[in-house]
Amino acid sequence: MEQSFPKQIQRLQEEIIKLKEKEDIFLMAHYYQRPEIQAIADVLGDSLGLSRIAQQKAKSDIIIFAGVTFMAETASILNPNKTVYIPDKAAKCPMAAMCPAKAVQSLKAQYDLPVVLYVNTLAEAKAHADIMCTSANAVEICRSLNSDSIIFGPDWNLGWHVNWKSGLEIIPVPEHGYCYVHKKFEVEDFLKLKKQYPKALITVHPECNPEVQKMADHVGSTAGIKKFIKNSDASDFIIGTEIGLGFAIHQETAGQKRLHFARDDAICQAMKCITLEKIREILIKFPKENVIKVPEEIANAARKGIVKMLELS
Ligand code: SF4
Repeated sequence: MEQSFPKQIQRLQEEIIKLKEKEDIFLMAHYYQRPEIQAIADVLGDSLGLSRIAQQKAKSDIIIFAGVTFMAETASILNPNKTVYIPDKAAKCPMAAMCPAKAVQSLKAQYDLPVVLYVNTLAEAKAHADIMCTSANAVEICRSLNSDSIIFGPDWNLGWHVNWKSGLEIIPVPEHGYCYVHKKFEVEDFLKLKKQYPKALITVHPECNPEVQKMADHVGSTAGIKKFIKNSDASDFIIGTEIGLGFAIHQETAGQKRLHFARDDAICQAMKCITLEKIREILIKFPKENVIKVPEEIANAARKGIVKMLELS
């Protein structure tokens, strides 16, 4: 289902598409971006999908990454010879900031255990992990390590999810890392909507609290939620994730599914600080200060864990 945007937005979109094509620039966007950005991106995805695309398909020498800084860092680490721009350097994930490198180093000094970090971390922390994971493959990655206990971070709820599904002991780093967007969801939010739409299926992200995950019909990554809805025979869904995902689902299901986001305020401010105007600015000025470049030593160390994850998933 094509969403139509106001004329002013359409003009901006057309201008960006022309500039982008003229300079052969690859625009990558996360599912939590504003709909008007998702609509003109060369590629859309969640953390895992975008990491894979950055590694295999980013043919242009310049990438503009509409997402948060840790994602642009990952794209840059996987493409050391390309220039990666982020339209606003303030697009920082607060959860990634909860897990500095020194927190990981200190747990590694205490326990002789494998370290699995969610891609939602700073490059400096990734450099100290054995392998990375995303919400789509966390259980599979942790199981692959042949260890009963794992140092895992930064999202405590995702760590809980891994323990729930695999029985592995999780040593969290930091002690209580969380995504403030997914942590907002409460059981009550879903029960209210379930009364209104009794046949609706509940699908939530594993960054949600354990009691929310336990009551859901399905728990999955952002791309997993989209797939679940697309492939299900049901018509109504109560969703526990960032509201930006609604755009991609509507596009792919031609508006055939009725989506009920459990909270209207499940909005990631860091994701939403990227705008069409800021993307246009990059395409006109290519400002050096918007280039994301990870120091070589850190990039080389972090790359190992990212590549290992991509090989395993
Ligand atoms: S949705 Fe949560 S984990 Fe994702 S970027 Fe925003 S704050 Fe970080």
